[in-house]
Formats: sequence, structure tokens, C-alpha cells
Amino acid sequence: MPECKRMINEQLIPRGIKNPRVLDAFAHVKRHRFVPEHVARYAYGDFPLDIGLDQTISQPYIVALMSEAIDPKPTDRVLEVGTGSGYQTAILAHLVQHVHTIERIESLMHRAQRALDHEGYTNVTFHLGDGHQGVSEHAPYDKILVTAAAKRLPTTLIDQLNIGGILVIPLGGIFFQDLVKITKTSKGTKKESLGGVRFVPLVASTS
Ligand code: SAH
Repeated sequence: MPECKRMINEQLIPRGIKNPRVLDAFAHVKRHRFVPEHVARYAYGDFPLDIGLDQTISQPYIVALMSEAIDPKPTDRVLEVGTGSGYQTAILAHLVQHVHTIERIESLMHRAQRALDHEGYTNVTFHLGDGHQGVSEHAPYDKILVTAAAKRLPTTLIDQLNIGGILVIPLGGIFFQDLVKITKTSKGTKKESLGGVRFVPLVASTS
């Protein structure tokens, strides 16, 4: 698949993505299957794309950065907040045992579900709702990845993490956020910054 390979060689490796399992996932997931047809020819470009309903599929590098940051293990159970196109979901499904993903817009959830079904993924469970609350029925998770920007850290998500678990989340205002990696320890949490990013907002349940 030359487009995937080019994306890996020109966008991911030069920017420092090293985890071989993450790079392998990018070689296997067909990104063009997760974007609306009219933008499919731009699917492998070095930028985010409009997926409708004011939402975006993240730039491939950002998906890779977040996937690497959670240090994915084949035995992990992961929660993704913000299913969107389902592309990040599919990358995670390649890397871990099971993915729970939650989206607030029903039509996006169904579209992502159809795309993942079509590609043959069987280790993903879709949830409709407000990701601020996580998905408590299936907690705790080994890793949680939030793909929309939160103003402040939703503590419920920390509660739903295992000790030793990792949460990656963009935190900040509307135009600019800090991508933050939080590791839960027996004594509390450890916070690390992964750099500046720009995500669509994590919409509060009240709005
Ligand atoms: N990982 C996705 C990113 C999609 S953009 C991709 O690469 O395609 C972020 C998504 O988060 C949007 O689909 C948006 O509808 C969803 N979202 C925003 N606020 C949310 C909330 N409170 N709960 C669940 N999903 C939310």
C-alpha cells in the first residue's frame, strides 16, 4: 500500500515515531476508508480533514503521537473518547486487546462503526454518550485516549484508569491545547507535556 508507506516514511518516522507496532498499524489501516468519499483522495495528506458535522479526523502524525504515548500493549483494554471517523479507533484496535470508544454524535458513531465492520475489526465496542463520564460499566482501563480538547482534566477519567495506566488528553482553550500524558500511580498522578496541538472541543454534556 504505497500511500500508507509514504505517509509513514515522510510524516511519521522523520518526526520521531519509533514504536514498530505503531508504525505497523499505520501500514495496515486504510485511512481512506475512514473519511467521507469526497475527501478520500486527500486521506494520506499531512493535515487534518473535515469529516462533517464540524468535526475533523486528526493529522496522521497526531494520531501516531497519541498512539505511541499510551505505550500500547497487546493485552491492554483501552477507552477512546471521541470516535469521530473511527480511524484512531482502528489503529488502536490493531495495537491492543479491546477498544471501547465513545462518541456524542450518533451519525458519526454509526459511520465509524460501519467503517470498522467493513474492515473486519471485531475487538471494538461503540458507545453513544458524553465522554466526560467515561464508560464506567467497562472500567478500569489500562489506557485512555481523548481525541477532543478539554478545558480541564475530567477526574472521572482518572478514576476509570488502572494503577500504572496512562491517559493522553489535549488540555486548554479553543485555539490551542497542550497534549498531556498522565500516568496514574499508587500515590497519585504524574503529568508530562507532549507539545502543542489543536483539537475540536470536548463538548460538555450541558451544552
Ligand atoms: N479520533 C477522531 C477525532 C475526531 S474529532 C478521528 O481521528 O477521527 C473529536 C470527536 O470527539 C468528534 O467526533 C466529536 O463529536 C467527539 N466529541 C466531542 N465532545 C465529546 C464528548 N463530550 N463525548 C464524546 N465525544 C465527543
